[in-house]
Amino acid sequence: MNAQEVKLAARQFGADLVGIADLKTLAYLPARENPYSIFPQATNVIVIGRKIPRGSLRGIEQGREMDNSFPQFGFYALEDNLLAKTTYDLTIWFEARGYEAVPLFAYDCDGQEVGVPVAPGKPAPNVMLKYRIMAQAAGLGETALNGLFLTPEFGPRQRFAMLLTDAGLESDPPFQPHICNDCGKCVQACPLHALNPQDAQPAGLAGYERPQAARNNILCRRCQNGAVLTNYGRFETVERTAAACSRACIQALEERGACQEKFTHRFRQSATWQRDINGQSSK
Ligand code: SF4
Ligand code: SF4
Repeated sequence: MNAQEVKLAARQFGADLVGIADLKTLAYLPARENPYSIFPQATNVIVIGRKIPRGSLRGIEQGREMDNSFPQFGFYALEDNLLAKTTYDLTIWFEARGYEAVPLFAYDCDGQEVGVPVAPGKPAPNVMLKYRIMAQAAGLGETALNGLFLTPEFGPRQRFAMLLTDAGLESDPPFQPHICNDCGKCVQACPLHALNPQDAQPAGLAGYERPQAARNNILCRRCQNGAVLTNYGRFETVERTAAACSRACIQALEERGACQEKFTHRFRQSATWQRDINGQSSK
């Protein structure tokens, strides 16, 4: 088995993105977020992604349909059905060839409470991998100023899953950030002023960081501009791919040709809309 065969299999199972990281580049991570804590014999993390259709954002972009297309085809059904199937099929593919693979969803669990260690010196369950770090180590993209993960192919429009394996695969080089140009359109687009680039901090894989604006998660959890509030435990934060801060970024990336996927018609086709913290129109 080699990396090329793995990537071909992943794509045949429906992945739009696939990258492979060497776990030695991630050895610096603390035990509570380190792949070795879950699978000490692992050699690689494989990060796969399926794209979020731009069309699933259309109803929210127009301000006409919020609860059907994106929440399902951009989030729950995409992650729980389509991406889960791709991940499961690739896991079985590995195991049919004599290598173990640990399938993991790319949950965004910053600040999630953990359990009690099963023995002294062990990290408490649940060890949660930071998928943005894994995906950057696997060469797929970067964490942008607005805190969303951007790929050259789709900008912020994808969902990720991860597999830890002991297959000893050749890895991809980590992603050197270059997509986000700090244009600030995401900051300007946020009706609640939840993003503060003045307090930006370096974010990303060690040695490959770029600035990420401070974000007020309390405001984001009250956002009614396309953000999807999720259950505690699945995401501690909100799903922001369809929110104003992300849609402004999609438009900005497309305007300067920074997205490989091209469309005949531009994403932003009419004036934007905004809601304040009470859900009232503010534009
Ligand atoms: S809108 Fe501009 S500054 Fe914000 S994340 Fe996108 S590229 Fe970066
Ligand atoms: S989710 Fe809403 S409140 Fe949070 S940064 Fe995006 S637009 Fe602003």
